[in-house]
Amino acid sequence: LFAAPTEFLKGVVAMDGLPPGDRPEVCFAGRSNVGKSSLINALTGRKGLARASNTPGRTQEINFFTTTGGPYLVDLPGYGYANAPVAVVEKWQRLLKSYLAGRATLRRAFVLIDARHGVKAVDDEIMALLDRAAVTFQAVLTKADKVKDKDRDTVLAQVRTALAKHPAAYPELVLTSSEKGDGIETLRAIIAALD
Ligand code: GDP
Repeated sequence: LFAAPTEFLKGVVAMDGLPPGDRPEVCFAGRSNVGKSSLINALTGRKGLARASNTPGRTQEINFFTTTGGPYLVDLPGYGYANAPVAVVEKWQRLLKSYLAGRATLRRAFVLIDARHGVKAVDDEIMALLDRAAVTFQAVLTKADKVKDKDRDTVLAQVRTALAKHPAAYPELVLTSSEKGDGIETLRAIIAALD
């Protein structure tokens, strides 16, 4: 799946721009700065494939990447910008809702959670959206290398408690570090095993 280079296919700003649903896909959601671009780059082995663009406005696209013989990887816009204009947030929420509810080929969403901070209110809102859209999601903890050993169990417990409230949540979570490579192979295997 990830042996040949993953390629950028297109950025989508409206439902009618979605590529044909001719193969399965998985999407990645997360608060801005959670490490989503870094994770996609680590997964695909391509630095700079997913660009870390942290300006609202520039990040409102749903970006599609193609793998070889596998699912589309779909990079959803980051959420939770402190200063994002209301209109931008609303437009993003509309597109996101339409996408999640209307994409029959969407097999799983990965909701990225900063392992230092655990599940925040905005993450919980996204999870509720996924529940309503009946899209199975799996929590992926990012930046695991930044968590001290003594804090790890506390964060994991907080995340597990939060996930337990969501019917669409897949119980198993994945601890990753894009910097150190932890969990990357596990996540690749999970994606490869979906059909
Ligand atoms: P995005 O806004 O969610 O796409 O986040 P980025 O991928 O741009 O990452 C945000 C910041 O976190 C950057 O400074 C990254 O270098 C850093 N970062 C991302 N992943 C990791 C990680 O696994 N470990 C550490 N220590 N830093 C990370």
